[in-house]
Amino acid sequence: MKRVSKNIVINEELVFLKEKGNRSSFKLPQIEEEKNIRSFIPENFLRDDIEDFPELNEVEVVRHFTRLSNYNYHLDLGLYPLGSCTMKHNPKLNERIASFREFTELHPFTPFKFAQGTLKILKELENLLIEISGMDGITIQPTAGAHGELTGMLLIRALLQDRGNPRKIVLIPDSAHGTNPASATLCGYKAITIKSNEKGCVDLNVLKENLNEDVACLMLTNPNTLGVFEENILEISKILHENGSLLYMDGANFNAFMGKARPGDMGVDVMHINVHKTFSTPHGGGGPGAGPVVVKKELIPYLPIPKIEEDESGNLFLNFSPGKSIGKVATFFGNVNVLLKTVSYILKLGSDGIREVSENAVLNANYIRAKLKNIFHLEYDSPTLHEVIFDDKFQEKYGVTTLDIAKRLLDKGFHPPTVYFPLIVHGSLMIEPTETEPKEELDAFINTMKEIVEEIEKNPETLHNAPENLRSRRFDEVLAARKPILKWKKEN
Ligand SMILES: *Cc1c(COP(=O)(O)O)cnc(C)c1O
Repeated sequence: MKRVSKNIVINEELVFLKEKGNRSSFKLPQIEEEKNIRSFIPENFLRDDIEDFPELNEVEVVRHFTRLSNYNYHLDLGLYPLGSCTMKHNPKLNERIASFREFTELHPFTPFKFAQGTLKILKELENLLIEISGMDGITIQPTAGAHGELTGMLLIRALLQDRGNPRKIVLIPDSAHGTNPASATLCGYKAITIKSNEKGCVDLNVLKENLNEDVACLMLTNPNTLGVFEENILEISKILHENGSLLYMDGANFNAFMGKARPGDMGVDVMHINVHKTFSTPHGGGGPGAGPVVVKKELIPYLPIPKIEEDESGNLFLNFSPGKSIGKVATFFGNVNVLLKTVSYILKLGSDGIREVSENAVLNANYIRAKLKNIFHLEYDSPTLHEVIFDDKFQEKYGVTTLDIAKRLLDKGFHPPTVYFPLIVHGSLMIEPTETEPKEELDAFINTMKEIVEEIEKNPETLHNAPENLRSRRFDEVLAARKPILKWKKEN
């Protein structure tokens, strides 16, 4: 069936633009003037009236947000092939479990003896992630992948410092996610980019040329952002270790091989796991997430506190004693709600299911690759795992770019893939279908891409008008990024 996006979607203005209705959604009981609620609140906590603050009743508020929500494209609506971001279906079971009152009403200061259940589940998660990754220790505190990277870099610095020299440099392949150099820099290291070889992998000679006694570690994404598994990973870790350097693995693409192979067996010393990607939590638009960090034995002493430990009588408690720890990296215990969804997801799938996730993620990406490889150019034409990276080279002669293609996809009811990343592929279209998409949805996407190519060959100019069917037309994206209007004033 052809995908059309025609629906009852009602226009909705900004809430600040609505007529000030002089209405409210609830009424406080009348009290005497001298008992006015304001008289109980310290002066410095009282806020002045906000100019133009909307005054609406309940039905208006509900409709306002419901109408806005209808503008949104989301995973429950269709394919979301955003490469590197792993926008897979999030099983509703996870949501149900994480919303149990026993979890949501547990105050962070609850005495340990009344929080044994939650502590036990979190401990179980630690063990599961250690097992799946083949590592020795873990912290589940970090609240995002990038936060896990920073935590991992702090751990590496602490270990090297203890050995006598924290070193100065972190090597990062040119295919890396932008958060890698950012995390290394935040941790006080100089990030040095190393060029990939013709297959898009680490070039062993380039690595060796850049190695010296100042190199703290290599930050390696595996499979890398081209979806290619680093076939020399054993050699890479050996070369690093001989130099006294460590191997950090960005584990954001773990959904490509979990259950099949373990980073711990490949010489990886530290790795973060984006559980909101790999283990399914609704994410994007800023969260929520969690970025547990798994480590080898020699890094365990530096892991963040508090740590979940067992006392003599077998009860769990949070141990805050600092020892050699890098300290705390999140308030309370991080994003426990996301961590609960992770446990639910892993236990529901079991070890066979976890393996099948990787297999199907790879199968789906390669299906799209096989079906589109004659009409879109592949800069790196070696076998890939969970994602496939095309570019706009074949469309260049028509004056059509990746951006035009992405915008036309919107007109046809699909969220576009990641565009213009990774940077080493000019005009890249990075497609990650994930394992949860049925074949029919993949075929609909493939056919739509073919339709777009037909349009390009017949009427390339029309592509520059896309999107045409949406509420908003094409933005000046540079202006929107450089001069965003963050505060609405009525004059605007
Ligand atoms: C998503 C991603 C990150 C950052 O993770 P966040 O959870 O968004 O902070 C880092 N590296 C790679 C390869 C990623 O795909």
